[in-house]
Amino acid sequence: MSAIIIDGKEIARRVREDSAARTRTLRASGVEPCLAVVLVGEDPASVSYVTGKEKALAEAAMVGRDLRLPASTSETELIDLIGALNADPAVHGILVQLPLPKHIREDRVIMAIDPAKDVDGFHPVSVGNMVIGTPGFLPCTPHGVIVMLKELKIPTDGAHAVVVGRSNIVGKPLANLLARRDVNATVTVCHTGTRNLAEHTRRADILIAAAGRPRLLTGDMVKPGAAVIDVGVNRVEDASAKKGYRLVGDVDFASASEVASYITPVPGGVGPMTIAMLLRNVVEAAELRSAGAERTIR
Ligand code: NAP
Repeated sequence: MSAIIIDGKEIARRVREDSAARTRTLRASGVEPCLAVVLVGEDPASVSYVTGKEKALAEAAMVGRDLRLPASTSETELIDLIGALNADPAVHGILVQLPLPKHIREDRVIMAIDPAKDVDGFHPVSVGNMVIGTPGFLPCTPHGVIVMLKELKIPTDGAHAVVVGRSNIVGKPLANLLARRDVNATVTVCHTGTRNLAEHTRRADILIAAAGRPRLLTGDMVKPGAAVIDVGVNRVEDASAKKGYRLVGDVDFASASEVASYITPVPGGVGPMTIAMLLRNVVEAAELRSAGAERTIR
């Protein structure tokens, strides 16, 4: 068997088109959807993520407010800035690029964001809404994976989904969304404490890798016909590449694509979905505000 390679860029393009149309409607009524993007320090990967997000905002005719702060910024200064953005009616969403420098406590910073502007979906109020199933912003990467499965009509109802990874930003929310009634999968979550990982992954109808370990999952760990979604993005040295490295996922693409029914490439799989879902959250935040419906997401 040779798997169908999922075109994340194409699915993301459709999601972005929808957001662009909704943005045009908002603009016609005088509302400019605006995302404040806060970057502290100059970590190269973070700079490149932020640049990508700003480009995508511009393409969707949304406003990106670019706030770049030195690595020496204190936690109090950052929280004060977030307070000002919370109070600014022109700003609909606030994104603080993670990771933050070590002297700043990420949980304090996330807690400072008004849940009505929490378009990353990391605030405990957003997480609580997700778990309970009340309206709120969903985290972009996990939500992107769910949208991808739905767009491709990959059967999830009653399917066994195995998620490798239990981080707060990918693994845990994904497991939660997969178990929601509208997706209806039976979910297994694996982590470093899991005994015999392969025993679990081989039982997955939908196998989702979010471990941040290059080529952790090989073809022999995949059930024939499974849909394999690779969230991992890992830099591996490659002297032949212009930058001296290239990006690979958590799945060994060559061997897994021989057994899977569907597989996402890295890059070009889940990555584009993350940005598309972020834009959707920004437009949604602007729509809610313009409808005076902020309270529904608190
Ligand atoms: P993270 O915070 O490092 O979490 C990794 C998780 O994987 C942890 O729960 C860890 O288990 C588990 N894990 C690590 N090694 C494992 C192993 N050998 N066997 C089983 N479980 C293992 O990473 P993250 O932030 O969730 O990100 C995961 C990956 O997704 C990274 O490569 C990241 O770059 C990528 N990512 C991509 C996007 C995108 O847009 N495509 C967005 C976000 C993240 P423990 O809890 O036991 O330590």
